[in-house]
Amino acid sequence: ATPTALMVGTGRGAKMGILIKNGEVLEAVNDVKTVVFDKTGTITVGKPQVTDIVGDQQQVLQVAASLEESSEHPLAAAILARAKTATIAALPVDDFKAIEGKGVSATIDGQTGFVGNTKLLTTAKLSDELEQQAVKLQNEAKTVVVVGVADEIIGLIAIQDMPKPTSKAAIAALKSRGLKTVMLTGDNQRVAQAVADQVGIDDVIADVLPGDKAEQVQALQATGKVAFVGDGINDAPALTTADVGIAMGSGTDIAIDAGGIVLVKNDLRDVDRALALSKKTFNRIK
Ligand code: ADP
Ligand code: MG
Repeated sequence: ATPTALMVGTGRGAKMGILIKNGEVLEAVNDVKTVVFDKTGTITVGKPQVTDIVGDQQQVLQVAASLEESSEHPLAAAILARAKTATIAALPVDDFKAIEGKGVSATIDGQTGFVGNTKLLTTAKLSDELEQQAVKLQNEAKTVVVVGVADEIIGLIAIQDMPKPTSKAAIAALKSRGLKTVMLTGDNQRVAQAVADQVGIDDVIADVLPGDKAEQVQALQATGKVAFVGDGINDAPALTTADVGIAMGSGTDIAIDAGGIVLVKNDLRDVDRALALSKKTFNRIK
């Protein structure tokens, strides 16, 4: 494409709220075969809410909220909001630790408390009954965190984040172009699959630790160019590794910096619009 065509293309994008960093990015979009999406905040709204509490509600919420007070994770925000609504005051904690992709722990009253997924469990084990409840909730597209103190599991908290209203149409548009769609998430396989089913995503790669997202993108590049769409701090390496990194405008500054394209309107349908724009710009000239 001529420099003028590139300017026209990126200019049109900007008017639609699709910020394309340069002509090379616009060109790379044309060859994308696979579009990989982060889940929370990209496919879903990013405002998870507590839906179910298993165990003594008051106790489970109090322990969980106390542990999550120093966490910046969206799941922590959901737990803290629910505790606030229930007017439950946090207990003092020491030695707060955030364990990436797993959860948090801290000392309460001299004992180690924890909230997170089962990867966090060392000595404590889920009873068959709790395990069954967790599976049921996960199949309903709810993220389940285990709450425990010392060796004892005191309950479960289920947290749900709804797909954005436009996610399903956005995925359908990409699939009708013959592109493969993949969800890449740190969340549990069952939850990820349930959300993928809601929006029509082809493949799910779940239980991925934050540091391993870029590696997963690299593996997908074996079959052609990959676009990665994400919003979080831990999405930055995947955004730069992908042939085209697409950041949500609502994302963290780090994600926005890492993206070659920024979707100002946070509308996933703009991924398909960027593709259309690239095709128009490059296929016409050839
Ligand atoms: P995602 O790819 O969905 O952003 P993360 O890597 O941030 O996932 O988290 C993966 C999983 O780790 C969560 O689904 C949850 O089970 C657990 N987890 C992480 N941080 C927390 C936290 N602060 N409280 C409870 N669970 C957490
Ligand atoms: Mg995350």
